[in-house]
Amino acid sequence: MLEKVMNQTKKTWWSEGIRFQCQGSGKCCVSRGSYGYVYVTLDDRKRLAKFFQLPVQTFTKKYCDRDSNGFWKLNEFRAECQFLRGKSCDVYEARPTQCKTWPFWPENMSAKAWSKEVAKFCPGVGKGKVWTEREISQVLKVQEKSESSY
Ligand code: SF4
Repeated sequence: MLEKVMNQTKKTWWSEGIRFQCQGSGKCCVSRGSYGYVYVTLDDRKRLAKFFQLPVQTFTKKYCDRDSNGFWKLNEFRAECQFLRGKSCDVYEARPTQCKTWPFWPENMSAKAWSKEVAKFCPGVGKGKVWTEREISQVLKVQEKSESSY
């Protein structure tokens, strides 16, 4: 997907960078429409298991389940992520890759998706640090790699 986005136009719409800084709203940790999944790679589960000082299998059994395609994710949100406390993430230092890379996900990076899905929803868009095209590409690669290993 990312390759497709990058190949379609030599110059990305974000070539001048994108201003984004998390405002700690917790909005991305709450169910919204069909969004309510946090997928986790084996590395994510290992990191989180270590955080809880649990064997990976025990962590996975307690805090994860599989989607209909068999991919591991955190237990489905009951309105919000099981690790959200108020507006804070209880596992912030060990949080899943998907949480770290928001909002620079391949599926968000068309100009249309960004303006309709991300900028309208996320209060961090337009605030704080300007992420350069290079930095965004790096994050996109991390997220793409993660998506290929659920
Ligand atoms: S793991 Fe933390 S950052 Fe990720 S959705 Fe849950 S509360 Fe939010």
